[in-house]
Amino acid sequence: MNNKDLSKNSMSMSVTNPKKKSILPAFPFLVAFPQLFSKNFRGLAVFPFIFLKDKMLKEDRAIIFHERIHLRQQLEMLWFPFFLWYGIEFIIRWIQFKNTHQAYLNICFEREAYTNENNFNYLKNRKFWNFLKYL
Ligand SMILES: [Zn+2]
Repeated sequence: MNNKDLSKNSMSMSVTNPKKKSILPAFPFLVAFPQLFSKNFRGLAVFPFIFLKDKMLKEDRAIIFHERIHLRQQLEMLWFPFFLWYGIEFIIRWIQFKNTHQAYLNICFEREAYTNENNFNYLKNRKFWNFLKYL
């Protein structure tokens, strides 16, 4: 997930080349799905999809990269355990901070994604299960 308050500093850059358009959708599959989002969230990764609040966000490199970090986390946890861990850690952090927003920001998956969302080479050299460093 990606919270809009934290992504205001993200640079918008075009990642598409109009001359190289393929008829096949490119992985990860970017889907604009505004009905899916509450007012505070703009992106959601559920492998192999990245859902976005607005199709314009497809051009926001930091949001897309943040969600791509979550896709990597989901893959290396064999998908479902990621969501289970995410939910359990959210509840633990909620008890710890007594605040849902602070709980969300302190989930290790989010800490890793927010810390590295502007480091576009991050996934090239990232170690397996590197989110453990953000616990
Ligand atoms: Zn996130």
